[in-house]
Amino acid sequence: MSARETRRVSVRTDAFDVYMGRADWTPPGFTGEGADGYFGNPVGTLDAFRPYFERRVEADGAYRARIEGLRGRRLGCWCRTGKDCHVDIIVDWMERSDESGILSKMAERLGNRNNPAGA
Ligand SMILES: [Zn+2]
Repeated sequence: MSARETRRVSVRTDAFDVYMGRADWTPPGFTGEGADGYFGNPVGTLDAFRPYFERRVEADGAYRARIEGLRGRRLGCWCRTGKDCHVDIIVDWMERSDESGILSKMAERLGNRNNPAGA
């Protein structure tokens, strides 16, 4: 299993797995994950989103679990490439707190301990 890169793409021009914008801007016909606007920025500016996100992802376990579920997927937003976007803040956070990386390293270590011969 190889970890795919989590990346932001444009819903205007690219294929995407999860819609990251607000519910009132969901791309016509898209009914997949995020179509309900769950991952949108509810607080307006990026400066406001950063502390909102940091606080919520620490305090809200259900939110954090859904954010963790975005790893390795193509995250679609209306923002143009090169323009700052709240999705960048989310991707930055995932890169800083790579729990899946830590967990797979732990599992590897446990596996070696339980099976020292490697047979
Ligand atoms: Zn955006």
